[in-house]
Amino acid sequence: MLFKNIRTVDENWNVLEGMNVLTEGTRITYIGKEMPKDYNGPVTDGDMKFLMPGFYNTHCHVPMTLLRGQGTGLPLDRWLNEAIFPVEAKLTPDDIYFGALLGIMELLSSGVVSVSDMYFRIPRYASALEEAGIKGNLCNGVVCFDPSASYFDDRSFRELLELDYMAKSTDGRIVADVGIHSEYTTTEKVVREAAEYAKTYGRIIQIHVSETEKEHRECKARHGGLTPTAYLKKCGVLESPAVMAHCVQCEKEDLDLIYESGAFVAHNISSNLKLGSGIATTPEWMNMDINVTIGTDGAASNNNLNFMEELHLAAMVATGVTRDPQAVSPAYMFKAASRTGALAQGRKDCGLMKEGMRADLIMFDLDKPHLLPERDLIANILYSAQSSDICMTMVDGKIVYRDGAFPGIDRERVCYEVRKRQERLLKEAGF
Ligand SMILES: [Zn+2]
Repeated sequence: MLFKNIRTVDENWNVLEGMNVLTEGTRITYIGKEMPKDYNGPVTDGDMKFLMPGFYNTHCHVPMTLLRGQGTGLPLDRWLNEAIFPVEAKLTPDDIYFGALLGIMELLSSGVVSVSDMYFRIPRYASALEEAGIKGNLCNGVVCFDPSASYFDDRSFRELLELDYMAKSTDGRIVADVGIHSEYTTTEKVVREAAEYAKTYGRIIQIHVSETEKEHRECKARHGGLTPTAYLKKCGVLESPAVMAHCVQCEKEDLDLIYESGAFVAHNISSNLKLGSGIATTPEWMNMDINVTIGTDGAASNNNLNFMEELHLAAMVATGVTRDPQAVSPAYMFKAASRTGALAQGRKDCGLMKEGMRADLIMFDLDKPHLLPERDLIANILYSAQSSDICMTMVDGKIVYRDGAFPGIDRERVCYEVRKRQERLLKEAGF
């Protein structure tokens, strides 16, 4: 695809005017003022359009779209135990498949090209990702309360191996990560085994960390004063590239450990606000040069998967709580969402507008009343744009969303299946 005479950005998010951007196969092969020579493929006219890297959502549970609205008003522990776990126990692989497709529509239409996700039945879930054309780092987060049980006998590990096999044919689009649900839902033996496995095989670890004050406090009581981050370090988790979700209650010493290990933090502002978990100290993370990335979390606690809204809220809350309108810059937010997010997923050839990178791109339609007048395009995209201004999402050079349509998804069928399945699930779970 040739994007002709279009506005785009360089690696540092400086705006470039009147560029021609060419994608061939899965990659960006040319960016320049001159027209590429001898090109006769499809062309997109760049008039009133803006082309930029897509978003890498680093913490989600996409199939939880089926549980949207479930347990509203409950704090995290009661929300999980009373509203979520009983319904999740009834989910079939096909429920997860259709729930995933529903969520993928929200992700693609809000600019997400790749998602890090912790759920179960992940091989079936991955087939939804492949059909829709979005990338994903999937894991089944191990939950284990039996002190003698081994990680290697757990369903979480079996699903990782199954997914690995399937991922081989996806040209890196699907990646199997090691998943540890959290400190409070897993035994020390299992955490150590999973960490050792990840280190040996060079895997990324996805985990929830210090999401609530209760979790943080109870961990310290259980482990002789160790915070969740200190405990995970002791168990070897920080020796692999880790994506630590939430980190709302992390203390200064925890942040030092995270920085030293090079781990990635997934900031989930909507979910943290909705569940009343608190507000993470993101400006402090940024000042410490911690790898900050953005995640929507699942639709049951967000309550949508609108990534643009997530970015908007993350920026606004950071400036609001610090009482400093310069606490975050629009370029920083977009780097966190694109390049840093891609690196958190181990995707070194993604997340930059640069020749040779994978063509994971999104295009905005700038011909909108709320985007005029324009003083600063990047600030306008962060603070004024809506996800409905995204008119195209491309993953690995393939258009997977354009003007409201998803070439890889039967939208009507998915909506029908989700309504039917949600009704059955609630009945089976006794709601
Ligand atoms: Zn989560």
